[in-house]
Amino acid sequence: MDVSYLLDGLNDKQREAVSAAEQDMLVLAGAGSGKTRVLVHRIAWLIQVMQHSPMSVMAVTFTNKAAAEMRGRIEALMGRDVRQMWIGTFHGLAHRLLRAHYKDAGLPQSFQILDSDDQLRLVKRTIRALNIDEKQWPAKQAQWYINAKKDEGLRAHHIDAYDIAEQTHKQIYQTYQESCDRAGLVDFAELLLRAHELLRDNQYVREHYQRRFRHILVDEFQDTNAIQYAWVQLLAGQDNRVTIVGDDDQSIYGWRGAQVENLQHFLRDFPQAETIRLEQNYRSTSTILNAANQVIANNSDRLGKDLWTDGHSGEPIRVYAAFNEQDEARYVVSSIQQWLEQGNALQDVAILYRSNAQSRVLEETLLYASIAYRIYGGLRFFDRQEIKDALAYLRLISNRIDDAAFERVINTPSRGIGDRTLGLIREASRDQKLPLWDAAKFLVRENLLTGRAKNAVQGFISLIDTLEDECIDRPLSKQTDIAIKRSGLMAMYESEKSEKAETRVENLGELVSATESFMPTGEEDMSPLAEFLAHAALEAGEEQADEHQDAVQLMTLHSAKGLEFPLVFMVGVEEGLFPSQQSMGEPGRLEEERRLCYVGMTRAKQQLVITHAESRRLYGQEQFHRKSRFIGEMPPEALHEVRMQTKVSQPAAQRGRFHSGASHETFEQTGYQLGQRVLHQTFGEGTVINYEGSGAQSRIQINFDEKGSKWLVVAYAKLTPL
Ligand code: ATP
Ligand code: MG
Repeated sequence: MDVSYLLDGLNDKQREAVSAAEQDMLVLAGAGSGKTRVLVHRIAWLIQVMQHSPMSVMAVTFTNKAAAEMRGRIEALMGRDVRQMWIGTFHGLAHRLLRAHYKDAGLPQSFQILDSDDQLRLVKRTIRALNIDEKQWPAKQAQWYINAKKDEGLRAHHIDAYDIAEQTHKQIYQTYQESCDRAGLVDFAELLLRAHELLRDNQYVREHYQRRFRHILVDEFQDTNAIQYAWVQLLAGQDNRVTIVGDDDQSIYGWRGAQVENLQHFLRDFPQAETIRLEQNYRSTSTILNAANQVIANNSDRLGKDLWTDGHSGEPIRVYAAFNEQDEARYVVSSIQQWLEQGNALQDVAILYRSNAQSRVLEETLLYASIAYRIYGGLRFFDRQEIKDALAYLRLISNRIDDAAFERVINTPSRGIGDRTLGLIREASRDQKLPLWDAAKFLVRENLLTGRAKNAVQGFISLIDTLEDECIDRPLSKQTDIAIKRSGLMAMYESEKSEKAETRVENLGELVSATESFMPTGEEDMSPLAEFLAHAALEAGEEQADEHQDAVQLMTLHSAKGLEFPLVFMVGVEEGLFPSQQSMGEPGRLEEERRLCYVGMTRAKQQLVITHAESRRLYGQEQFHRKSRFIGEMPPEALHEVRMQTKVSQPAAQRGRFHSGASHETFEQTGYQLGQRVLHQTFGEGTVINYEGSGAQSRIQINFDEKGSKWLVVAYAKLTPL
C-alpha cells in the first residue's frame, strides 16, 4: 500500500513523529510549527499503516470546534469516515463516559449538565439555605473554590479545614454537592472528577476502556489540569501508548487550574517516551516570529525551544497609539477597509482582545461601517434567558428531579407563585431530603399551602405532567414547540412588545429550528432530547449561525489558541489591561500574561497590528494607561509606529445608526484636534483625547497633566491651543 501521501507536506522531524513506532511521545514545539498537523497525520498513520481500528484511538482537543476540524482533516486525508473514533474535549469525552456508565457513576439516567451560570445560582441558594452571610462569603468565590477543589480531584470530605474560610467553603461545597446529587445535576468540573472516579474505582469499566483505546493523543497538553492528567494516566494503563503535543510557552490557563508541570510529569510518568522537537515555524513572517520570540524570551523557567522560519520577512508590525477606544476602533476598521480594497477576504481577519468587555466599541464601529463580524465566546445562543427558560421546561419534562430547572420555570411566566411559597417548597425539600418537585407535591397533598398558592402550585404540576403526555413519541422539534407554546413562554414574550422581547420571540423560533436540524447520534442510548440538552450545555459558544458568512472574527486572546489568520489585530495592549492590573504585582501571573501575548502574536500569518489607547472607558470607568511593556519588549526595528487621523467611511443607508462619538468633520468644527496640547486657566496643560456633539453643544475631553481627564463644553472652556 502506498502511504507516502501521509508523509507528504511534512518536514523530516514531523515525519519522524508521524511514522514513529508505537510508543509514548511528547512533541514539544513552539507556535505554528505543525504540532496539530502532526497529530492529524499521526492518527491517519495509526489507522492506515498500523491497521488500528478508529475505535481504538482517542484524541483530545481543547475546543469542540478544534475536534470537529480535526475529524474533518483526518477524514479528508484518509478518504473514509472515522465515526467510531472518540474525539472531543475532556469535558465532552467525560460526559460520554458518564452517559454510558451512569449507574456505575452513581448518577440517574436522566442526569443533566449544570452550566456555570446555573451553578452559581445553586451555590447562592446553598449559601442562603445555610444562613451564611453572602456579603462575607460571596457566591462567586465559593463557586471558584468548589471548582478548584474538583479540578484537584478533591471531594469535600478530603479537605482538612483549618481556618474559618476553608471551613465555610467546605461546608458550602458539601451542601451544594448534596443538592446536585439529589437533583441529578453535574457541573463541568464534576464531569471530569466523576469520570475520573469511575475509571479509578471501577475495575471493569477501567479495563474495558484500557483494552479499547490503544492510542491516546492529546493536543494543547500544556493546559491540562491535574484531574485531566490523572484521566490520561488511568486510560493509558500499562499497555497503551500516549502522544501529547504542547508548548510550555503557550500555557495560558494557569488561572483556571491548568498545570504546565504536567509536561514534566509526563516525562517522569512515561519514562519510555521519546521527545520530538519541531523547530520550523510555517505560519508567520520572520518579522512576526522574531518579535514573538523576543517577547517570550523575557520569561524565566522555560523549557527552551528554538523556532525559526525560512519565510520572508513581510511587513513590519504596525503599532497604533490611539487617543481612546473609539479612535482605536476607527483605526482598526479603516485598516480592515484597506485590506478589503486590496482584494482580501474578511474571514482572514481576527481582532483579539484581553477581555470580552472590549468588544462592544469594536462591534459598534464595525456595524457603522457595515462590515460583517462574528464573535466567538460572547453570550452563547444557549445562554440567553429565553433559551434557558425553554430548555428548563424540556429538562423538567424529562427529569422531574432537576431542581435547577424547577426553580427557573416554576414562576416563569408568572403564575402567582411568590417567594414565600417557593421558600416553603425549598424548606420542605431540605427537611424531607426531597427534590423540589416532590416537595411541591407533598405540600399540595398535605394541604400545607394557602388556597391560592396551592392552586397555583397544583396548576404548575399538572402543566408539566400534561406537557409530558403531549410530548411522548413526538419528534424533538415538536416537543420543543409544544413546551414553548403550552408553557406560556412564547405568549409572555409576545405580549411584551419591546424590541428586546421581539428578539426573544425570534430566538425561541430559532430554538425550534435548531432542534429540527439537530442530528442525534444515538450514542450511549441517549434520547434525542437528552443529546440535544447535553449539546446545548457543552457547546462552548464556538459554533454560531452563519458559520460560512464572510466575516471578521472577534474573540479573546484566550479563545484564539490554536487558530491562525492572515491579518491579526491585538487591541488594548496597555499596562493595566494587558498585562492585566491583577497580574502586575505577581511574577507568575505576569509571565502567564506574557505567554498570552506570545499566543496572540503567533496567530498572525502575514500582518500583525497592535493598538493601545491613551484613555479608555471600560467597565464604566475612564482609565489612563501607558502602552504595554510587551510592546517595549519587541525589537524596535520590527515595529512601525502609526500616528494618523482615521476616518471610517460609511455607506449612506447606515447613517444615523451610530451613536458612539461624532465624526471627524464635526470635531474639526470645534477647532481642536485629537492629540492637540492645550492650556486651561484652572486645570493647566493637557491633551485633547475625545469629543462629542456639535455646534454649541460640542464637548471635548482633555487629559490634564495634573488634574486628570475632564469633559468641557468647548464654547465655555476658554482653552488656549499650545
Ligand atoms: P499552535 O502552537 O499555534 O497550535 P501548531 O504547532 O499546532 O500551532 P499547526 O497549526 O499544526 O501548528 O500548523 C501551523 C501552520 O503551518 C498550518 O497552516 C499548517 O498547515 C502549516 N504547516 C505545518 N507543517 C507544515 C509543513 N511541513 N509544510 C507546510 N506547511 C506546514
Ligand atoms: Mg496547534
